[in-house]
Amino acid sequence: MRVLITAGGSGIGFAMGQAFAEAGAQVWVTDLDVRSVPDGWRSSTVEVSSESAMAALFQEVETTWGGLDVLCANAGIAGPTAAVEDVALEDWKACVSVNLEGAFLAAKYAAPLMKRQGSGAIVLTSSTAGIYGYPNRAPYAAAKWGVIGLMKTLAMELGPHGIRANAICPGAVEGSRMEGVLAREAAAKGMTRDQVYEGYAKGTSMRSFVEARDVANMAVFLGSDAARLVSGQVIAVDGHTENPDPKL
Ligand code: NAD
Repeated sequence: MRVLITAGGSGIGFAMGQAFAEAGAQVWVTDLDVRSVPDGWRSSTVEVSSESAMAALFQEVETTWGGLDVLCANAGIAGPTAAVEDVALEDWKACVSVNLEGAFLAAKYAAPLMKRQGSGAIVLTSSTAGIYGYPNRAPYAAAKWGVIGLMKTLAMELGPHGIRANAICPGAVEGSRMEGVLAREAAAKGMTRDQVYEGYAKGTSMRSFVEARDVANMAVFLGSDAARLVSGQVIAVDGHTENPDPKL
């Protein structure tokens, strides 16, 4: 199995690479910085919102691998934390560019490869923010909702070609990115980092943050033949969000 993961240099994407590698797959990660990927993985430095860079990446994938079995379009940035009236248009565009246009470009250039071989699985990383919304994160929530719309359309267009598309919606995932979010929210609300953390965890039935590996395990399932008739689905890996507004 040949698996390409955007933003696979750290966080959830890196965990996806580890999980797919353990499942016996060939792994190719892209990121802004790919200096520390494990031996045996392929890697490329690629800005996901650059069409020319993405086109060149998929050309290289086709030349090297002759096709692609699984695309994990995973790149995303948190974007600004601000009330909607305080969001600068340029910050909106930057957030949508990475989260949504990056996913679009990955799908755009993966689709012809997968169509030619008559098979493939596309796994898009959305977010529970894309299902419920996310106070003070309008650009991010809108982009992640857009990722779900993209996925639904990919499933319809590509299904007849033997290609599946699904979106994973992680809840709050432990890691450096979430530490930044916790710090910003704590500062904005006059709370401690631990109070904000508890607020997030208490918003789920499982009273838990998510680990990157939980998301990665779902990606491996969705990329495998075990999920051969699973397509067009939005799958939350979030410990079951009960309260989508973490500040309450
Ligand atoms: P992370 O910040 O740990 O890692 C993201 C990676 O993306 C980094 O390695 C970074 O270099 C790369 N990246 C950023 N901008 C890029 C660009 N323009 N082009 C190429 N690569 C770029 O993030 P993460 O927590 O692993 O998030 C991965 C995905 O999961 C994202 O789409 C994110 O929105 C989504 N997500 C994360 C959480 C969470 O709590 N961490 C929750 C829900 C959804």
